[in-house]
Amino acid sequence: MTSLSVAAGTLLPAWEASADVVVVGTGVAGLTAALNTASAGLSVLLITKGRPEEASTQWAQGGVAVVRDERDPGDSIQTHIDDTLVAGAGLSDPVAVELILTEGPAAVQRLIDRGALFDAGPDGLLRTREGGHSANRVIHAGGDATGAEIERALLAVRGLPSVLAGHQALDVVLDGTGRARGLSVLGPDGRVGLIRSGAVVLATGGSGHLYAATTNPGVATGDGLAMALRAGAALADTEFMQFHPTVLWTGPGDLGHRPLVTEAVRGEGAVLIDGAGVRIMLGVHPLADLAPRDVVSLAVSRRMALAPGGVGDHVFLDATGIAPAVFARRFPTVSAACALAGVNPTTDPIPVAPAAHYHCGGVLTDMDGRTTVPGLFAVGEVARTGLHGANRLASNSLLEGLVMGERAAAAIGAEVTLAAARPAELILTAAPAADPAGRFELQATMSRSAGIGRDLVTLLAAQSTAARLAAVAAPVVDRWSVETANLTLAASALLAAAEARAESRGCHVRTDHPDRDDAWQRASLHVTLDDAGRPTVAADALAGVA
Ligand SMILES: Cc1cc2nc3c(=O)[nH]c(=O)nc-3n(C[C@H](O)[C@H](O)[C@H](O)COP(=O)(O)OP(=O)(O)OC[C@H]3O[C@@H](n4cnc5c(N)ncnc54)[C@H](O)[C@@H]3O)c2cc1C
Repeated sequence: MTSLSVAAGTLLPAWEASADVVVVGTGVAGLTAALNTASAGLSVLLITKGRPEEASTQWAQGGVAVVRDERDPGDSIQTHIDDTLVAGAGLSDPVAVELILTEGPAAVQRLIDRGALFDAGPDGLLRTREGGHSANRVIHAGGDATGAEIERALLAVRGLPSVLAGHQALDVVLDGTGRARGLSVLGPDGRVGLIRSGAVVLATGGSGHLYAATTNPGVATGDGLAMALRAGAALADTEFMQFHPTVLWTGPGDLGHRPLVTEAVRGEGAVLIDGAGVRIMLGVHPLADLAPRDVVSLAVSRRMALAPGGVGDHVFLDATGIAPAVFARRFPTVSAACALAGVNPTTDPIPVAPAAHYHCGGVLTDMDGRTTVPGLFAVGEVARTGLHGANRLASNSLLEGLVMGERAAAAIGAEVTLAAARPAELILTAAPAADPAGRFELQATMSRSAGIGRDLVTLLAAQSTAARLAAVAAPVVDRWSVETANLTLAASALLAAAEARAESRGCHVRTDHPDRDDAWQRASLHVTLDDAGRPTVAADALAGVA
């Protein structure tokens, strides 16, 4: 039995629905969590703010990093663990790394059993290599359309709860004890409703649109980070935004969602060169063009900015050594994007530049996806399990979404039972909304001040900008104004952590503290909101969630 109290200044919900569990997001993590929760016999409402397939998952190119055969003399789960820890630059949680990478093979097999078709040859699934991997262990589908195949397969599984598309989650609704008991939701008709539930799963993906140029689709606006913060949950490692080094560059006005040139192109032999044709990665790292992503992005941005022969805003990826037929077969998505831009990758170097790609940090969870708020779970890119540390190893994220979607579904029943035993008074708070006119200023500021290379002065100035833009009220509560409010809050959390971490590590490069500082080794920064709604930062050892 639940009753409802409404915070000052808000309306009563225009509609209501209820379920044991509400899952927000229809990427790999949300779909997996929803499928497994439903097959455990719980009722599930599955909502997404766009169309069902509007998710980063749909755009994933390279593949899924997984060691499927421990008898393979060229690879082992231990080597995958070691590569992940190296990429994570001393900040990954070894427990999370071992658990996710060890459970990954079985989770991938269950995905295959659910109908996902990976590219195969006579000897089994084909495998390629990406940056930071010491073996060929990345399986792929449709050449470079892995995510689209995963999305297709999961959306087609019988037993998937029907997707409520066009439903934007606004806030987690808490009971008087601070337990998550539902969501406020903006429906497709613009009316705000209330979904009551025994538990809530955030699977809202990334936050690439914090920046002016990103590989992420338009739905990646950090909503889950902001909702979790407002509900009282802690975020961790938010300062680590990974920039992908090879995003197709077509001109100085390239903004918003940009086409990716997957790292697997380098796995097949392509190399980065500057405008004078000089190799960029030789001598920078022993793995050269296949070094971890943070290393490559930093080297590329430095060459763009500094080196003779650099052309200012882009460099080139020379894939002309890959046979045209192989390129077309392996990389149909990249081929199509290049064709649209008038680039022939088999005869000409591809112009590329770094862009925001993957948020390594997120909502702090344990290894069952539980956040620090009872009844609230987070899975997939929105979450921070400790797998990625300061820099995600390429193609580990789809795997994390699969494993953690399953694990959260297995743990959630206990929360639903707990909630059912407690009558609750729900507290509906005002929907967040900020003037959408501020969005582009925020993104430009973040790109300038919190991209690859930040310093104290620019980080503080960016925090002032984010706070100013957050304070400009929106005339209406709609998708854009809510997203803008969420972006400003997520930006503030990222900036506060980036200010506090006075060292350089992984994707966090402080030009005023250019070296790694051992005092910060394995020290994660947790961000919560203070009573005034401002992000506060506390350093913590990687002890996990209490
Ligand atoms: C171009 C590109 C290539 C990539 N390539 C790879 C790769 O090869 N291998 C790999 O492992 N990873 C790759 N990644 C990363 C990987 O795709 C993502 O990390 C992963 O798909 C995230 O899955 P997810 O389920 O957490 O979120 P997503 O797939 O992003 O899904 C998030 C969902 O939440 C919904 N949502 C968000 N906010 C709200 C809200 N307020 N209300 C309702 N719904 C909401 C969205 O609409 C969407 O349905 C790539 C990413 C990109 C962008």
